[in-house]
Amino acid sequence: MKDISCKLLVIGAGPGGYVCAIRAGQLGVDTVIVEERKPGGTCLNVGCIPSKALIHAAEEYDRIVHLASGANPLGIRTTQPEIDLPQTIAWKDTIVGRLNSGVSGLLKKSKVKMVQGRARFRDGKTVEVETETGRQIIRAENVVIATGSAPVELPGLPFGGPVISSTEALSLTSVPERLVVVGGGYIGLELGTAFAKMGAKVTVVEAQTRILPQYDADLTRPVSKRLQALGIEVMTRAKAKGLGKGGSALLVETESGSEVSLPADRILVTVGRRPVTQGWGREELVLDMDGPFIRIDERCRTSMRGLYAIGDVTGEPMLAHRAMAQGEMVAEIVAGHQRVWDKRAIPAVCFTDPEIVAVGMTPDDAQRIGSEVRIGQFPFAANGRAMTKLGEEGFVRVVARADNHLVLGIQAVGQGVSELSAAFGLAVEMGARLEDIAGTIHAHPTQGEAFQESALKSLGRELHI
Ligand code: FAD
Ligand code: NAD
Repeated sequence: MKDISCKLLVIGAGPGGYVCAIRAGQLGVDTVIVEERKPGGTCLNVGCIPSKALIHAAEEYDRIVHLASGANPLGIRTTQPEIDLPQTIAWKDTIVGRLNSGVSGLLKKSKVKMVQGRARFRDGKTVEVETETGRQIIRAENVVIATGSAPVELPGLPFGGPVISSTEALSLTSVPERLVVVGGGYIGLELGTAFAKMGAKVTVVEAQTRILPQYDADLTRPVSKRLQALGIEVMTRAKAKGLGKGGSALLVETESGSEVSLPADRILVTVGRRPVTQGWGREELVLDMDGPFIRIDERCRTSMRGLYAIGDVTGEPMLAHRAMAQGEMVAEIVAGHQRVWDKRAIPAVCFTDPEIVAVGMTPDDAQRIGSEVRIGQFPFAANGRAMTKLGEEGFVRVVARADNHLVLGIQAVGQGVSELSAAFGLAVEMGARLEDIAGTIHAHPTQGEAFQESALKSLGRELHI
Protein backbone atom coordinates (compact mmCIF):
# COMPACT_ATOMS: atom_id res chain seq x y z
CA MET A 1 0.00 0.00 0.00
CA LYS A 2 1.38 3.40 -1.00
CA ASP A 3 2.27 5.72 1.91
CA ILE A 4 0.15 8.85 2.33
CA SER A 5 1.61 12.29 3.11
CA CYS A 6 -0.63 15.12 4.26
CA LYS A 7 -0.59 18.42 6.08
CA LEU A 8 -3.13 17.33 8.73
CA LEU A 9 -3.94 13.92 10.12
CA VAL A 10 -6.85 13.57 12.56
CA ILE A 11 -7.11 10.43 14.68
CA GLY A 12 -10.70 9.69 15.64
CA ALA A 13 -13.87 10.82 13.85
CA GLY A 14 -15.98 11.79 16.87
CA PRO A 15 -17.46 15.31 17.14
CA GLY A 16 -13.99 16.72 17.85
CA GLY A 17 -12.18 14.92 15.05
CA TYR A 18 -14.74 15.11 12.28
CA VAL A 19 -15.44 18.84 12.83
CA CYS A 20 -11.70 19.50 12.81
CA ALA A 21 -11.29 17.59 9.54
CA ILE A 22 -14.30 19.22 7.85
CA ARG A 23 -13.14 22.75 8.76
CA ALA A 24 -9.55 22.01 7.70
CA GLY A 25 -10.79 20.61 4.40
CA GLN A 26 -12.95 23.70 3.83
CA LEU A 27 -9.84 25.84 4.34
CA GLY A 28 -7.95 23.88 1.71
CA VAL A 29 -5.76 21.96 4.16
CA ASP A 30 -4.80 18.58 2.78
CA THR A 31 -6.46 16.41 5.48
CA VAL A 32 -6.75 12.71 6.33
CA ILE A 33 -8.96 11.33 9.12
CA VAL A 34 -8.62 7.84 10.60
CA GLU A 35 -11.50 6.11 12.37
CA GLU A 36 -11.53 2.55 13.64
CA ARG A 37 -15.30 2.32 14.08
CA LYS A 38 -17.98 4.56 12.59
CA PRO A 39 -17.92 8.27 11.78
CA GLY A 40 -19.51 10.35 14.53
CA GLY A 41 -17.71 8.72 17.47
CA THR A 42 -19.29 8.11 20.86
CA CYS A 43 -21.71 11.01 20.53
CA LEU A 44 -23.40 9.99 17.34
CA ASN A 45 -23.22 6.19 17.66
CA VAL A 46 -23.54 5.34 21.36
CA GLY A 47 -23.94 8.67 23.17
CA CYS A 48 -25.80 11.95 22.69
CA ILE A 49 -27.99 11.04 19.73
CA PRO A 50 -29.11 7.48 20.56
CA SER A 51 -29.70 8.41 24.21
CA LYS A 52 -31.87 11.36 23.23
CA ALA A 53 -33.82 9.16 20.80
CA LEU A 54 -34.52 6.67 23.60
CA ILE A 55 -35.38 9.44 26.06
CA HIS A 56 -37.85 10.88 23.55
CA ALA A 57 -39.52 7.52 22.90
CA ALA A 58 -39.78 6.87 26.65
CA GLU A 59 -41.28 10.34 27.21
CA GLU A 60 -43.88 9.80 24.50
CA TYR A 61 -44.79 6.40 25.93
CA ASP A 62 -45.01 7.77 29.47
CA ARG A 63 -47.22 10.62 28.27
CA ILE A 64 -49.69 8.19 26.72
CA VAL A 65 -49.60 5.89 29.77
CA HIS A 66 -50.42 8.94 31.86
CA LEU A 67 -53.29 9.93 29.55
CA ALA A 68 -54.59 6.35 29.58
CA SER A 69 -54.65 6.36 33.37
CA GLY A 70 -57.40 8.98 33.21
CA ALA A 71 -55.46 11.06 35.73
CA ASN A 72 -54.80 13.94 33.35
CA PRO A 73 -56.62 17.24 33.36
CA LEU A 74 -56.55 17.74 29.56
CA GLY A 75 -59.69 15.76 28.85
CA ILE A 76 -57.90 13.30 26.57
CA ARG A 77 -58.74 9.64 27.02
CA THR A 78 -56.94 6.73 25.41
CA THR A 79 -56.45 3.02 25.99
CA GLN A 80 -53.36 1.38 27.50
CA PRO A 81 -50.38 1.74 25.09
CA GLU A 82 -47.55 -0.74 24.54
CA ILE A 83 -43.91 -0.17 23.72
CA ASP A 84 -42.15 -2.40 21.21
CA LEU A 85 -38.54 -1.81 22.27
CA PRO A 86 -36.91 -3.64 19.31
CA GLN A 87 -38.81 -1.27 17.00
CA THR A 88 -37.81 1.75 19.08
CA ILE A 89 -34.17 0.62 18.87
CA ALA A 90 -34.49 0.06 15.10
CA TRP A 91 -35.86 3.61 14.73
CA LYS A 92 -32.94 4.93 16.82
CA ASP A 93 -30.53 2.99 14.59
CA THR A 94 -31.96 4.57 11.44
CA ILE A 95 -31.30 8.04 12.89
CA VAL A 96 -27.74 7.00 13.76
CA GLY A 97 -27.29 5.52 10.27
CA ARG A 98 -28.51 8.71 8.58
CA LEU A 99 -26.12 10.79 10.66
CA ASN A 100 -23.20 8.38 9.96
CA SER A 101 -23.81 8.91 6.24
CA GLY A 102 -24.22 12.63 6.81
CA VAL A 103 -20.81 12.94 8.48
CA SER A 104 -19.15 10.82 5.75
CA GLY A 105 -20.80 13.02 3.12
CA LEU A 106 -19.61 16.23 4.79
CA LEU A 107 -16.04 14.89 5.03
CA LYS A 108 -16.14 13.96 1.35
CA LYS A 109 -17.57 17.35 0.38
CA SER A 110 -14.64 18.99 2.19
CA LYS A 111 -12.23 16.71 0.29
CA VAL A 112 -11.05 14.96 3.44
CA LYS A 113 -9.63 11.47 2.91
CA MET A 114 -11.11 8.94 5.32
CA VAL A 115 -9.08 5.87 6.31
CA GLN A 116 -10.88 3.10 8.17
CA GLY A 117 -8.85 1.30 10.82
CA ARG A 118 -6.97 1.69 14.08
CA ALA A 119 -4.21 4.30 14.05
CA ARG A 120 -0.96 3.85 15.95
CA PHE A 121 1.93 6.32 16.24
CA ARG A 122 5.35 5.21 15.06
CA ASP A 123 6.72 8.65 15.91
CA GLY A 124 5.32 12.18 16.25
CA LYS A 125 4.88 12.59 12.49
CA THR A 126 4.18 9.02 11.38
CA VAL A 127 1.16 6.85 12.03
CA GLU A 128 0.37 3.35 10.85
CA VAL A 129 -3.19 2.17 10.35
CA GLU A 130 -4.31 -1.44 10.29
CA THR A 131 -6.92 -1.38 7.55
CA GLU A 132 -8.96 -4.25 6.10
CA THR A 133 -6.64 -4.38 3.12
CA GLY A 134 -3.32 -4.05 4.95
CA ARG A 135 -1.06 -1.61 6.75
CA GLN A 136 -1.29 2.03 5.70
CA ILE A 137 1.51 4.44 6.62
CA ILE A 138 0.52 8.10 6.95
CA ARG A 139 3.04 10.93 7.37
CA ALA A 140 1.71 14.29 8.48
CA GLU A 141 3.04 17.75 9.29
CA ASN A 142 0.38 18.09 12.02
CA VAL A 143 -1.53 15.42 13.94
CA VAL A 144 -4.67 15.87 16.03
CA ILE A 145 -5.40 13.27 18.69
CA ALA A 146 -9.18 13.02 19.07
CA THR A 147 -9.49 9.50 20.46
CA GLY A 148 -12.29 10.36 22.90
CA SER A 149 -13.35 8.43 25.97
CA ALA A 150 -14.75 5.10 27.14
CA PRO A 151 -16.95 4.05 30.09
CA VAL A 152 -15.22 3.58 33.45
CA GLU A 153 -15.41 0.01 34.74
CA LEU A 154 -15.68 -0.63 38.50
CA PRO A 155 -13.11 -3.12 39.83
CA GLY A 156 -15.68 -5.41 41.47
CA LEU A 157 -18.15 -5.05 38.63
CA PRO A 158 -16.58 -5.68 35.22
CA PHE A 159 -18.77 -5.24 32.15
CA GLY A 160 -20.30 -8.47 30.88
CA GLY A 161 -23.41 -10.54 31.53
CA PRO A 162 -25.93 -8.50 33.52
CA VAL A 163 -23.42 -5.67 34.07
CA ILE A 164 -23.72 -3.22 31.19
CA SER A 165 -22.43 0.19 30.15
CA SER A 166 -24.44 2.90 28.39
CA THR A 167 -23.48 1.35 25.04
CA GLU A 168 -25.36 -1.89 25.74
CA ALA A 169 -28.19 -0.03 27.48
CA LEU A 170 -28.85 1.84 24.23
CA SER A 171 -29.40 -1.41 22.34
CA LEU A 172 -31.42 -3.54 24.76
CA THR A 173 -34.23 -5.43 23.07
CA SER A 174 -36.40 -5.76 26.14
CA VAL A 175 -37.06 -3.51 29.10
CA PRO A 176 -35.43 -5.06 32.19
CA GLU A 177 -37.90 -5.73 34.94
CA ARG A 178 -35.44 -4.54 37.61
CA LEU A 179 -32.68 -2.15 36.61
CA VAL A 180 -30.06 -1.00 39.08
CA VAL A 181 -28.09 2.04 37.95
CA VAL A 182 -24.71 2.62 39.60
CA GLY A 183 -23.91 6.35 39.44
CA GLY A 184 -26.52 9.11 39.65
CA GLY A 185 -24.80 11.44 37.20
CA TYR A 186 -25.65 12.45 33.62
CA ILE A 187 -25.95 9.04 32.00
CA GLY A 188 -27.39 7.17 34.95
CA LEU A 189 -30.23 9.63 35.42
CA GLU A 190 -30.95 10.25 31.73
CA LEU A 191 -31.15 6.54 30.94
CA GLY A 192 -32.51 5.45 34.32
CA THR A 193 -35.44 7.84 33.89
CA ALA A 194 -36.06 6.60 30.33
CA PHE A 195 -36.16 2.95 31.44
CA ALA A 196 -38.42 3.76 34.39
CA LYS A 197 -40.83 5.45 31.97
CA MET A 198 -40.74 2.33 29.81
CA GLY A 199 -41.76 0.20 32.79
CA ALA A 200 -38.55 -0.89 34.57
CA LYS A 201 -38.30 -0.80 38.35
CA VAL A 202 -35.23 1.41 38.68
CA THR A 203 -32.92 1.91 41.65
CA VAL A 204 -30.08 4.45 41.47
CA VAL A 205 -27.01 3.88 43.66
CA GLU A 206 -25.02 7.09 44.09
CA ALA A 207 -21.82 7.41 46.14
CA GLN A 208 -22.21 11.13 46.89
CA THR A 209 -24.72 12.80 49.20
CA ARG A 210 -27.09 13.62 46.32
CA ILE A 211 -27.76 13.00 42.66
CA LEU A 212 -26.02 15.11 39.99
CA PRO A 213 -23.50 16.44 42.51
CA GLN A 214 -22.04 18.73 39.82
CA TYR A 215 -25.18 20.90 39.99
CA ASP A 216 -26.44 22.85 43.03
CA ALA A 217 -29.29 21.46 45.10
CA ASP A 218 -31.82 24.08 43.89
CA LEU A 219 -31.33 22.86 40.33
CA THR A 220 -31.54 19.16 41.15
CA ARG A 221 -34.52 19.32 43.55
CA PRO A 222 -37.21 19.20 40.79
CA VAL A 223 -35.36 16.23 39.23
CA SER A 224 -35.34 14.35 42.56
CA LYS A 225 -39.03 15.05 42.96
CA ARG A 226 -39.78 13.63 39.53
CA LEU A 227 -37.63 10.55 40.11
CA GLN A 228 -39.70 9.89 43.21
CA ALA A 229 -42.95 10.36 41.29
CA LEU A 230 -41.74 7.85 38.70
CA GLY A 231 -41.08 5.33 41.46
CA ILE A 232 -37.30 5.45 41.06
CA GLU A 233 -35.52 4.65 44.31
CA VAL A 234 -32.40 6.71 44.92
CA MET A 235 -29.80 5.48 47.40
CA THR A 236 -27.21 8.14 48.19
CA ARG A 237 -23.90 7.68 50.03
CA ALA A 238 -24.07 4.13 48.74
CA LYS A 239 -21.30 2.24 46.98
CA ALA A 240 -21.58 -0.69 44.61
CA LYS A 241 -19.42 -3.56 45.85
CA GLY A 242 -19.97 -6.36 43.38
CA LEU A 243 -22.39 -8.94 42.10
CA GLY A 244 -24.48 -10.98 44.50
CA LYS A 245 -24.83 -14.74 44.30
CA GLY A 246 -25.95 -16.00 40.89
CA GLY A 247 -25.33 -12.59 39.32
CA SER A 248 -28.90 -11.41 39.74
CA ALA A 249 -28.28 -8.87 42.50
CA LEU A 250 -25.98 -5.98 43.26
CA LEU A 251 -24.23 -5.81 46.61
CA VAL A 252 -24.22 -2.28 47.94
CA GLU A 253 -22.51 -0.76 50.96
CA THR A 254 -24.93 1.74 52.48
CA GLU A 255 -24.26 4.96 54.33
CA SER A 256 -24.31 3.15 57.69
CA GLY A 257 -21.70 0.65 56.53
CA SER A 258 -24.10 -2.25 56.21
CA GLU A 259 -24.37 -4.32 53.04
CA VAL A 260 -27.62 -4.74 51.14
CA SER A 261 -28.39 -6.88 48.13
CA LEU A 262 -30.49 -5.26 45.39
CA PRO A 263 -32.17 -7.75 43.04
CA ALA A 264 -31.40 -6.79 39.44
CA ASP A 265 -31.92 -8.14 35.92
CA ARG A 266 -29.45 -5.58 34.59
CA ILE A 267 -26.88 -3.40 36.34
CA LEU A 268 -26.06 -0.27 34.40
CA VAL A 269 -22.70 1.15 35.50
CA THR A 270 -22.40 4.88 34.76
CA VAL A 271 -19.68 6.16 37.07
CA GLY A 272 -17.92 8.40 34.57
CA ARG A 273 -15.81 8.08 31.44
CA ARG A 274 -12.04 7.72 31.03
CA PRO A 275 -9.95 9.26 28.26
CA VAL A 276 -8.71 6.84 25.59
CA THR A 277 -4.96 7.29 26.03
CA GLN A 278 -3.91 3.69 25.42
CA GLY A 279 -3.81 1.56 22.32
CA TRP A 280 -2.54 4.19 19.85
CA GLY A 281 1.17 4.26 20.64
CA ARG A 282 1.37 7.04 23.22
CA GLU A 283 4.52 5.31 24.45
CA GLU A 284 6.23 6.33 21.18
CA LEU A 285 5.66 10.00 22.07
CA VAL A 286 6.75 12.31 24.86
CA LEU A 287 3.43 13.82 25.87
CA ASP A 288 2.89 15.73 29.10
CA MET A 289 -0.20 14.50 30.90
CA ASP A 290 -2.69 16.29 33.12
CA GLY A 291 -3.77 13.44 35.40
CA PRO A 292 -5.32 10.86 33.08
CA PHE A 293 -5.79 13.42 30.27
CA ILE A 294 -3.43 14.77 27.62
CA ARG A 295 -2.20 18.20 28.70
CA ILE A 296 -3.04 20.97 26.24
CA ASP A 297 -2.62 24.73 26.15
CA GLU A 298 -5.11 27.40 25.06
CA ARG A 299 -4.53 26.43 21.41
CA CYS A 300 -4.98 22.69 22.09
CA ARG A 301 -1.23 22.18 21.52
CA THR A 302 0.32 19.27 23.38
CA SER A 303 3.89 19.28 24.67
CA MET A 304 5.10 18.08 21.23
CA ARG A 305 5.38 20.44 18.28
CA GLY A 306 2.79 19.83 15.56
CA LEU A 307 0.78 17.54 17.83
CA TYR A 308 -2.65 18.71 19.05
CA ALA A 309 -5.29 17.04 21.19
CA ILE A 310 -9.02 17.82 21.42
CA GLY A 311 -12.21 16.53 22.99
CA ASP A 312 -12.74 14.04 25.80
CA VAL A 313 -9.10 12.88 25.73
CA THR A 314 -8.13 16.36 27.00
CA GLY A 315 -10.41 16.56 30.04
CA GLU A 316 -13.59 18.00 31.48
CA PRO A 317 -16.19 18.90 30.59
CA MET A 318 -16.51 15.82 28.39
CA LEU A 319 -19.12 17.30 26.09
CA ALA A 320 -19.59 17.02 22.36
CA HIS A 321 -19.89 20.77 21.74
CA ARG A 322 -16.61 21.44 23.58
CA ALA A 323 -14.90 18.85 21.37
CA MET A 324 -16.41 20.43 18.24
CA ALA A 325 -15.37 23.97 19.24
CA GLN A 326 -11.81 22.77 19.90
CA GLY A 327 -11.78 20.90 16.57
CA GLU A 328 -12.85 23.94 14.62
CA MET A 329 -10.24 26.10 16.36
CA VAL A 330 -7.37 23.66 15.72
CA ALA A 331 -8.30 23.35 12.02
CA GLU A 332 -8.04 27.12 11.67
CA ILE A 333 -4.74 27.23 13.56
CA VAL A 334 -3.29 24.58 11.22
CA ALA A 335 -4.57 26.63 8.27
CA GLY A 336 -2.54 29.60 9.58
CA HIS A 337 -5.26 31.61 11.35
CA GLN A 338 -4.63 33.34 14.67
CA ARG A 339 -6.94 31.50 17.06
CA VAL A 340 -6.95 30.95 20.79
CA TRP A 341 -9.50 29.43 23.20
CA ASP A 342 -11.40 32.53 24.33
CA LYS A 343 -14.82 31.08 25.15
CA ARG A 344 -16.53 32.51 28.21
CA ALA A 345 -18.71 29.49 28.84
CA ILE A 346 -19.45 25.95 27.73
CA PRO A 347 -23.17 25.28 28.20
CA ALA A 348 -24.12 22.04 29.94
CA VAL A 349 -27.50 20.40 29.55
CA CYS A 350 -28.72 17.41 31.48
CA PHE A 351 -31.60 15.74 29.64
CA THR A 352 -33.32 14.54 32.78
CA ASP A 353 -36.99 15.14 33.55
CA PRO A 354 -37.16 18.07 33.98
CA GLU A 355 -34.07 19.19 32.07
CA ILE A 356 -31.24 21.23 33.62
CA VAL A 357 -29.20 23.89 31.82
CA ALA A 358 -26.14 25.61 33.20
CA VAL A 359 -24.09 28.28 31.45
CA GLY A 360 -21.24 30.14 33.12
CA MET A 361 -21.04 30.79 36.85
CA THR A 362 -23.49 29.64 39.48
CA PRO A 363 -24.01 31.79 42.59
CA ASP A 364 -21.55 29.49 44.44
CA ASP A 365 -18.91 29.85 41.69
CA ALA A 366 -19.20 33.63 41.80
CA GLN A 367 -18.92 33.66 45.58
CA ARG A 368 -15.85 31.43 45.42
CA ILE A 369 -14.00 33.99 43.30
CA GLY A 370 -15.16 36.75 45.62
CA SER A 371 -17.52 38.50 43.19
CA GLU A 372 -20.39 40.49 44.66
CA VAL A 373 -23.42 39.27 42.73
CA ARG A 374 -27.01 40.06 41.96
CA ILE A 375 -29.25 37.05 41.45
CA GLY A 376 -32.65 36.96 39.79
CA GLN A 377 -34.77 33.83 39.83
CA PHE A 378 -38.13 33.43 38.12
CA PRO A 379 -40.33 30.34 38.56
CA PHE A 380 -42.08 28.59 35.68
CA ALA A 381 -45.14 28.46 37.97
CA ALA A 382 -45.62 32.13 37.00
CA ASN A 383 -45.06 31.55 33.26
CA GLY A 384 -48.16 31.16 31.10
CA ARG A 385 -46.55 28.94 28.46
CA ALA A 386 -45.19 26.56 31.09
CA MET A 387 -48.70 26.27 32.58
CA THR A 388 -50.17 25.32 29.19
CA LYS A 389 -47.55 22.55 28.92
CA LEU A 390 -48.11 21.25 32.46
CA GLY A 391 -44.52 22.28 33.07
CA GLU A 392 -44.73 24.55 36.08
CA GLU A 393 -41.88 22.91 37.97
CA GLY A 394 -38.55 24.75 37.87
CA PHE A 395 -37.13 28.22 37.26
CA VAL A 396 -34.62 30.38 35.39
CA ARG A 397 -31.85 31.98 37.43
CA VAL A 398 -29.48 34.70 36.31
CA VAL A 399 -26.25 35.58 38.10
CA ALA A 400 -24.63 38.96 37.41
CA ARG A 401 -21.93 41.18 38.85
CA ALA A 402 -23.37 43.54 41.42
CA ASP A 403 -21.34 46.55 40.25
CA ASN A 404 -21.81 46.63 36.46
CA HIS A 405 -24.57 44.01 35.99
CA LEU A 406 -22.45 41.88 33.63
CA VAL A 407 -24.13 38.50 33.34
CA LEU A 408 -21.80 35.82 34.73
CA GLY A 409 -24.04 32.80 34.47
CA ILE A 410 -27.54 31.54 33.79
CA GLN A 411 -29.11 28.30 34.98
CA ALA A 412 -32.52 26.76 34.54
CA VAL A 413 -34.42 23.63 35.42
CA GLY A 414 -37.71 22.83 33.75
CA GLN A 415 -39.51 21.03 31.00
CA GLY A 416 -37.79 21.60 27.64
CA VAL A 417 -35.27 24.15 28.95
CA SER A 418 -32.47 22.57 26.87
CA GLU A 419 -33.64 24.81 24.02
CA LEU A 420 -33.00 27.91 26.16
CA SER A 421 -29.30 27.02 26.32
CA ALA A 422 -28.67 28.92 23.06
CA ALA A 423 -30.10 32.17 24.44
CA PHE A 424 -28.20 31.72 27.70
CA GLY A 425 -24.92 30.95 25.91
CA LEU A 426 -25.30 33.93 23.59
CA ALA A 427 -25.95 36.31 26.49
CA VAL A 428 -22.83 35.21 28.38
CA GLU A 429 -20.63 35.04 25.27
CA MET A 430 -21.67 38.52 24.09
CA GLY A 431 -21.09 40.05 27.52
CA ALA A 432 -24.73 40.98 28.07
CA ARG A 433 -25.73 43.11 31.06
CA LEU A 434 -28.93 42.48 32.99
CA GLU A 435 -30.45 45.52 31.26
CA ASP A 436 -29.80 43.95 27.81
CA ILE A 437 -31.86 40.88 28.70
CA ALA A 438 -34.51 42.86 30.52
CA GLY A 439 -34.76 45.23 27.55
CA THR A 440 -35.14 42.56 24.88
CA ILE A 441 -38.71 41.86 23.79
CA HIS A 442 -39.30 38.16 24.40
CA ALA A 443 -42.14 36.54 22.43
CA HIS A 444 -45.30 35.67 24.35
CA PRO A 445 -46.23 33.08 25.41
CA THR A 446 -42.86 31.31 25.64
CA GLN A 447 -40.75 29.83 28.39
CA GLY A 448 -38.05 32.29 27.31
CA GLU A 449 -40.04 35.04 29.00
CA ALA A 450 -38.89 33.53 32.30
CA PHE A 451 -35.34 34.48 31.25
CA GLN A 452 -36.34 38.12 30.72
CA GLU A 453 -38.30 38.09 33.99
CA SER A 454 -35.30 36.71 35.90
CA ALA A 455 -33.24 39.67 34.69
CA LEU A 456 -36.07 42.09 35.53
CA LYS A 457 -36.35 40.51 38.98
CA SER A 458 -32.65 40.92 39.67
CA LEU A 459 -33.10 44.63 38.87
CA GLY A 460 -36.11 44.87 41.17
CA ARG A 461 -38.42 45.44 38.18
CA GLU A 462 -40.29 42.13 37.88
CA LEU A 463 -43.70 42.34 36.20
CA HIS A 464 -45.32 38.95 36.45
CA ILE A 465 -44.64 37.91 40.01
P1 FAD B 1 -15.48 10.42 20.79
O1 FAD B 1 -16.83 10.84 20.40
O2 FAD B 1 -15.31 9.42 21.87
O3 FAD B 1 -14.78 9.89 19.46
C1 FAD B 1 -13.51 9.34 19.45
C2 FAD B 1 -13.38 8.49 18.21
O4 FAD B 1 -12.02 8.09 18.08
C3 FAD B 1 -14.19 7.19 18.28
O5 FAD B 1 -15.03 7.10 17.14
C4 FAD B 1 -13.16 6.08 18.29
O6 FAD B 1 -13.56 4.92 17.59
C5 FAD B 1 -11.99 6.76 17.59
N1 FAD B 1 -10.68 6.21 17.93
C6 FAD B 1 -10.13 6.06 19.17
N2 FAD B 1 -8.89 5.56 19.08
C7 FAD B 1 -8.63 5.39 17.75
C8 FAD B 1 -7.51 4.93 17.03
N3 FAD B 1 -6.39 4.53 17.64
N4 FAD B 1 -7.60 4.89 15.69
C9 FAD B 1 -8.72 5.28 15.05
N5 FAD B 1 -9.81 5.75 15.68
C10 FAD B 1 -9.76 5.80 17.01
N6 FAD B 1 -22.26 15.08 25.26
C11 FAD B 1 -23.02 16.17 25.03
O7 FAD B 1 -22.49 17.25 24.77
N7 FAD B 1 -24.39 16.09 25.05
C12 FAD B 1 -25.04 14.93 25.32
O8 FAD B 1 -26.27 14.89 25.33
C13 FAD B 1 -24.25 13.77 25.57
N8 FAD B 1 -24.85 12.59 25.83
C14 FAD B 1 -24.07 11.48 26.02
C15 FAD B 1 -24.72 10.28 26.29
C16 FAD B 1 -23.97 9.13 26.49
C17 FAD B 1 -24.68 7.82 26.76
C18 FAD B 1 -22.55 9.20 26.41
C19 FAD B 1 -21.73 7.96 26.58
C20 FAD B 1 -21.91 10.40 26.15
C21 FAD B 1 -22.66 11.55 25.97
N9 FAD B 1 -22.07 12.79 25.73
C22 FAD B 1 -22.85 13.90 25.53
C23 FAD B 1 -20.59 12.94 25.68
C24 FAD B 1 -20.12 12.98 24.22
O9 FAD B 1 -20.50 11.79 23.59
C25 FAD B 1 -18.61 13.15 24.18
O10 FAD B 1 -18.25 14.30 24.92
C26 FAD B 1 -18.11 13.32 22.75
O11 FAD B 1 -18.46 12.21 21.97
C27 FAD B 1 -16.59 13.49 22.74
O12 FAD B 1 -16.15 13.63 21.44
P2 FAD B 1 -14.67 13.24 21.01
O13 FAD B 1 -14.55 13.59 19.57
O14 FAD B 1 -13.69 13.80 21.96
O15 FAD B 1 -14.57 11.65 21.21
P1 NAD C 1 -20.93 11.51 35.72
O1 NAD C 1 -19.63 12.02 36.18
O2 NAD C 1 -21.94 12.46 35.20
O3 NAD C 1 -21.64 10.74 36.93
C1 NAD C 1 -21.03 9.68 37.59
C2 NAD C 1 -21.69 9.53 38.94
O4 NAD C 1 -21.28 8.29 39.49
C3 NAD C 1 -21.29 10.61 39.92
O5 NAD C 1 -22.44 11.19 40.47
C4 NAD C 1 -20.43 9.87 40.96
O6 NAD C 1 -20.55 10.41 42.24
C5 NAD C 1 -21.02 8.47 40.89
N1 NAD C 1 -20.11 7.38 41.30
C6 NAD C 1 -18.79 7.25 41.03
N2 NAD C 1 -18.32 6.08 41.54
C7 NAD C 1 -19.38 5.46 42.13
C8 NAD C 1 -19.55 4.21 42.81
N3 NAD C 1 -18.54 3.36 42.99
N4 NAD C 1 -20.78 3.89 43.27
C9 NAD C 1 -21.82 4.74 43.11
N5 NAD C 1 -21.72 5.94 42.46
C10 NAD C 1 -20.52 6.28 41.98
O7 NAD C 1 -20.60 10.35 34.66
P2 NAD C 1 -21.51 9.60 33.59
O8 NAD C 1 -22.95 9.71 33.94
O9 NAD C 1 -20.90 8.25 33.43
O10 NAD C 1 -21.25 10.43 32.28
C11 NAD C 1 -19.90 10.60 31.78
C12 NAD C 1 -19.76 11.90 31.06
O11 NAD C 1 -20.45 11.86 29.82
C13 NAD C 1 -20.38 13.09 31.80
O12 NAD C 1 -19.50 13.63 32.75
C14 NAD C 1 -20.62 14.04 30.68
O13 NAD C 1 -19.44 14.76 30.43
C15 NAD C 1 -20.92 13.14 29.50
N6 NAD C 1 -22.40 13.09 29.26
C16 NAD C 1 -23.06 14.25 28.99
C17 NAD C 1 -24.41 14.24 28.79
C18 NAD C 1 -25.11 15.53 28.47
O14 NAD C 1 -24.43 16.48 28.10
N7 NAD C 1 -26.43 15.60 28.57
C19 NAD C 1 -25.13 13.06 28.86
C20 NAD C 1 -24.43 11.90 29.16
C21 NAD C 1 -23.07 11.94 29.35
